[in-house]
Amino acid sequence: MKMTYDADHDCALELRTVRLRATPARLGVLHALEDADTPIDVATIIGHVRSRGVAADEATIFRILRVFTDKGLVKTIQFHEDKMRFEHAGKPSHHHFVCEKCGMIDDVVGCTVHELEKIIEKKKGVTVTRHTLEFFGVCARCR
Ligand SMILES: [Zn+2]
Ligand SMILES: [Zn+2]
Ligand SMILES: [Zn+2]
Repeated sequence: MKMTYDADHDCALELRTVRLRATPARLGVLHALEDADTPIDVATIIGHVRSRGVAADEATIFRILRVFTDKGLVKTIQFHEDKMRFEHAGKPSHHHFVCEKCGMIDDVVGCTVHELEKIIEKKKGVTVTRHTLEFFGVCARCR
C-alpha cells in the first residue's frame, strides 16, 4: 500500500464537510481507505493507522468506521467472509470480482443492473434505492 502523506489536507477537508473533527485516528482511517485499490478489512486499516504513529485499538477503529458509514464516507462490503470490508464511498459505483483461490479482489465497472431495478419497481410497485452484487470465481493467474 502506498503512503501519500500529502493527501492529509484533503482528508481533513473531507471530514469537515461531514462535520467531523479531524482527529489523527479518523485521518488515518480515511487515508487507509483512500489509498486502497480494493475493499480492505479492519486489520489492514489498523495497520495503516499504526504505521502513521497513531495508537488506536480495534474498538476505536470500528467506532470510526461506523460513523463514516453513517455519514456516507464509507461503504461496507461483505464477501461471505467472517469479516466486513470497507471501501471509500467516493469511488464511482462498481462491483467486485473475488478469486476464491488466491483472494484477489478486482473492481468490476459497467453495471447493467439498473434495467433490472426498473423491472423490479414496475412488477412489485416498490422503489429500489441500491443493490449489491459481487462475483466469485477463479482469476486469470490461478486458472
Ligand atoms: Zn487467483
Ligand atoms: Zn472496489
Ligand atoms: Zn450495480
